Amino acid sequence: MIYADYNATTPCLPEVADLVRDCLCETYGNPSNRASLMGRKARAAIDTAREQVARAVGASPDEIIFTSGATEACNTAILGVMERLLPTRPRILTSAVEHPAVCMPAEACTHAGADWIELPVDSQGRLDLNALKSSLNDKTALVCVMAANNETGVLQDIREVVRLSHAAGALVFCDMTQMLGKIPFSVHSEGVDFACFSAHKCYGPKGVGALYKRRGLALSPLIRGGGQENGLRSGTENVPGIAGFGLAADLAAREVNARRAHLQRLTRLLESEVRRHLPNVIIQSGAADRLPGTSMFTLPGLNGKWLAQLSDVTASSGSACASLQEKPSHVLRAMGVNETLAARSLRISLGTPTTEADIRHIAKRLIEGAQRLQS
Ligand code: PLP
Repeated sequence: MIYADYNATTPCLPEVADLVRDCLCETYGNPSNRASLMGRKARAAIDTAREQVARAVGASPDEIIFTSGATEACNTAILGVMERLLPTRPRILTSAVEHPAVCMPAEACTHAGADWIELPVDSQGRLDLNALKSSLNDKTALVCVMAANNETGVLQDIREVVRLSHAAGALVFCDMTQMLGKIPFSVHSEGVDFACFSAHKCYGPKGVGALYKRRGLALSPLIRGGGQENGLRSGTENVPGIAGFGLAADLAAREVNARRAHLQRLTRLLESEVRRHLPNVIIQSGAADRLPGTSMFTLPGLNGKWLAQLSDVTASSGSACASLQEKPSHVLRAMGVNETLAARSLRISLGTPTTEADIRHIAKRLIEGAQRLQS
């Protein structure tokens, strides 16, 4: 079986898994118990991880809040900002291609009286900046735009989103989950106010992630209790997961240029092979700046699901990583792709373990599968 679903999740690196195991079995003290040596060791593991994650994303350690993943980070930021600002600034803007971890909390805010607007994208999946401009007003609290799309890989102009939003007094939340270890970036240079990350998207363990909150910004906590994570995320810390995330993030940042070059080379090879045999194939967001390693293929004229033809390749239809429901991708629908074509589209996402031989095999299976569905 060839794995080609790295945007959905990645395997844990062996050195990261070793660290997680060491923490589980040896660094098991409660980090809140500062009076004990075991507690201090656990606290030190968290402190190290916080520094590593902060360095990897271009933030300061005090701006990093560990969570159970990107979904919790999105919910914490969106619900936490809206709880504070709703009375004076009830408007929240999200792009139409956000992950459900962003759309669902935004929608939930409407039950408390928020005015939620989804901003359109063009056929390449790029945010319509004119729509952003015209929707921003002095009642806008928060603008949520994903930096790199998990389904198409399209990269948004986050600096421009920040410039326009800040000019209107709105804060910016940016889902950067897919970028870590694929392209270099820094939250400080992008200028965003909040951002989210997830360890299992960058060869770390599942069930841990982080929220970046720019220093000085106020936020209401989502999870209340013992006051861990500076009062913003109560509950005994997931020390093994956090330590593993720290190491995975550190490696991601150190190796980002090599990983990017590898993914770019393999993506070019895959797309050119598929195009050569299936000249009608559409590579979604193909004319836009894209994350390396993400190819969403759509082929008009298929009489069934392309994905079902790939017996020994693990890929996805795009929406699978975002939702348990088998619905056509809302990202492709927002880009103007019709329901049938969206449901039959196929996402191949590559990772650092992917080889050139894997690519040739994936391309062969894609081409054979399409030819069967066309005949
Ligand atoms: N945002 C994006 C862009 C994602 O790809 C994912 C993963 O599915 C998430 C958020 C949610 O991440 P997590 O699984 O850590 O909650």
